[in-house]
Formats: sequence, C-alpha cells, structure tokens
Amino acid sequence: MELKSIRKVDFGDKRVLLRVDYNVPVNNGKVSDTTRIRATLPTIAHLLDDGASLIICSHLGRPHGQVEESLRLTPVAPLLEEMLNQFIKPAGFAPRRIIKLDDCVGQPARTAVEAAGANDIVLLENLRFHAGETTNDPGFAKQLAMLADSYVNDAFGTLHRAHASTEGVAHLLPAYAGLLVEQELQGLIQVTENPAKPLVIILGGKKISGKIDVLESLIPRADTVLIGGAMANTFLLAQGHKVGRSVVEDDMVDTAKHMLDLATQHNTEFLLPVDYVVTDDLLNPTGISTVSADSIGGDDIAVDIGRRTCDLFQREIQRARTVFWNGPMGVFEQEQFSLGTLTIAKALADVFKTAHTVVGGGESVAAVNSAGLTRQIHHVSTGGGASLEYVAGKELPGLKMLMA
Ligand code: ADP
Ligand code: MG
Repeated sequence: MELKSIRKVDFGDKRVLLRVDYNVPVNNGKVSDTTRIRATLPTIAHLLDDGASLIICSHLGRPHGQVEESLRLTPVAPLLEEMLNQFIKPAGFAPRRIIKLDDCVGQPARTAVEAAGANDIVLLENLRFHAGETTNDPGFAKQLAMLADSYVNDAFGTLHRAHASTEGVAHLLPAYAGLLVEQELQGLIQVTENPAKPLVIILGGKKISGKIDVLESLIPRADTVLIGGAMANTFLLAQGHKVGRSVVEDDMVDTAKHMLDLATQHNTEFLLPVDYVVTDDLLNPTGISTVSADSIGGDDIAVDIGRRTCDLFQREIQRARTVFWNGPMGVFEQEQFSLGTLTIAKALADVFKTAHTVVGGGESVAAVNSAGLTRQIHHVSTGGGASLEYVAGKELPGLKMLMA
C-alpha cells in the first residue's frame, strides 16, 4: 500500500475539495496560533500551481451539530488570505481572494462554488455545524462531494476520525493525500518502522483512558517507557501507593496493573516518577514541596515530576536513538509546575544529533513551542491523537482512504 500523493496527479482544471485542520485557538474573535494554517500553505500552493479551483473545508471545536457563533471559521478567512498571498508571491502567482461561506453544504454553497472566479478560493463554514459530519452520514458526505471533482485530505490531525469529510467523502470522489500528511508520515515512520534503538516513549498528560490502548501496543515495541503527568498517578495507585487529592482515574487501576505486567513480560523498562512536586491548591498554592513517590500526603496534589525524576528521565533520553513524546509531565501552564515538562523538552533538543525525536499532542507541542525548541526537534506533529494512534500501529480511517 502506498500513499496517493497529490504529487502524482495533475489537478489541471479540477475542482478540488481540500480538507484541512483549521481547528485553531480563537480568542475574542482572533486566531491566537496560526501554526495549523501555515502548515497547509504548501499543499494549497501546489494545487493552485496545477491550476485547480479550491474549496477548503475544516472543523473548529465541538459545536455538536449546531451553529455556534463563536465557532465560525470567519476569523480564519482574512488570515489565510494574507498568509497564502505572502507565501505564493515569490513564485509570481496572482493574489487570491478567500470567499468565506456561511454554510458548508446546500444550494447557496453550490451556487457560490460555481460563481467563484479564477482567483477565488472558497472556504466552507465549520463542518461540525452539521451532525452528519461526525456521524459520517452518507447523505452529508454526498452533499460535500457534489461541490467538487476531486478530494484532497491534508488534515493530518483528524485522520484517526471516521467522519464524513475525512472518510465518507473519500468513497465518492478520487481521494489524495496533501503534502502535510505526507510530511507527517515521513516524520513518524522512523518511529514505527525499524526505529533506531533504544526506542524511548514518553507519555504524560491528564487522561490515561484515551492513551491506554496505545500503551498496550507500544510496550512490546519500546525499550523504555517513561510516564509522567496525571497519568502516572493511576500507575502509582496500581502499585499500591497513595496519591492524596491528585487527579486519578480509579476505574483504570486494573488496566494500569495489566500494563505493568505487560512491561515485565516484554522486558520493557517502565519508569514511573520517583518524586513529585506537590501542592495544597492548584490555583492558589500556599505550599509547594517535593516528596518521594511513596510519601504523597493525604492532602497533597501531585502537579509535576520532581527533580530526581527529571534527572532519571533525562538520562534515559540521553541513551535513546529514537524518542516519541506525547503529553506534558505536569500542569506546565503554571510556571511553578512546568520544570518537568521543560526538562523533557530540553532533553529532546539535546539529543538532536544522536536521536530521531518526535513530539505529538496539543499540549506537549505548545510546551516545545513556548520553550523555543521547535527547530531542535526532528518532527513536531500537528496532530496529537492521530500521531499517537499511528505510532501505536492502529489503522487510521482517514489515512486508509488515501492509500492504494
Ligand atoms: P496532550 O494534549 O499533550 O496529549 P493531554 O490533553 O492528555 O495532553 O493533557 C494535557 C493536560 O494535562 C495539560 O493541560 C496539563 O495541565 C495536564 N496535566 C499534566 N499533569 C497533570 C497533573 N499531575 N495533574 C493534573 N493535570 C495535569
Ligand atoms: Mg490535549
């Protein structure tokens, strides 16, 4: 099976429905981080260069099938127009205009698509304003497909979802992978196929439930697994320690035990924090201290890994030849609790010359960005769940439709 890349086709006079991931942070009507928009510019420029007419679509947030004013893609339109025109100018392209619609399907959308001029690009409204998007309703997929002759998916971050715009529509139109999807897979393949050993997997973040099945397939393949964040608390419980008032998922304790057994069976080094930064109150801490993993007090809230753990994890990363990291080590959004996450980010940057390093996941990527270390990481993924599931060897429904 091979990726059906847009490089192998000429989109000459075609109308192309381009699925992107513009699920960007919007604050007070302004896009506060443009990374995901920037990431799609090479694909857009490539298709324009072929002479294609573009109809761009994306989801934004979780409006649950209803119009939510704050989740319109309106703030994206002027930004996309400005960024795209800057991007294509050196190649001598005519400036493009983004025509943002108020809906993504229906007669007005069809009329607007047909009326679009040679230098117009249509941006459809948030796909998730229709319930049919997330339920992968064939009728909704058909309405989307009616707008175009071909379909290109460059929304790497949503490839693990079987939605109408990521899966359904690909049954109805010739489907291809955009350049971002291609680049993401190139970055991840060095983790999934014959990774240079030792392979160190670092998992953190808040929830264990979304990540546990991933661990199950990663443990046999990794040499070392490092666990931090609130995720580690559930493992501590599984080992019989107390976690005070820390975030835990009690119903996952048995699963955590199973993971510990699995690691023993496969001879995978499975390291939990040996010490923790604890506090009495997350938002208004009056006391912050570091305690060892077996002596978290009844009132303590574990909010970061401690210094001894930082050193331990750092040493493991130094020996690695491949590193994959998803999920912060602590509540890094608050400076007092960010040392663990920053230490991991720096440790990855430090092995740039000796290891292939990959970071995925919204929050971990934000931490790497804010530390200014993005360029010292080999691959920073635009998709958290998608990269994690891909690395774990799961089949991504959206990706499957782009293979032949
Ligand atoms: P990612 O988006 O990187 O995959 P998650 O969404 O699973 O990660 O979790 C990120 C969140 O986990 C962060 O907002 C962080 O504050 C939180 N977090 C990390 N460690 C802890 C902890 N010990 N207690 C509570 N929350 C934590
Ligand atoms: Mg997250």
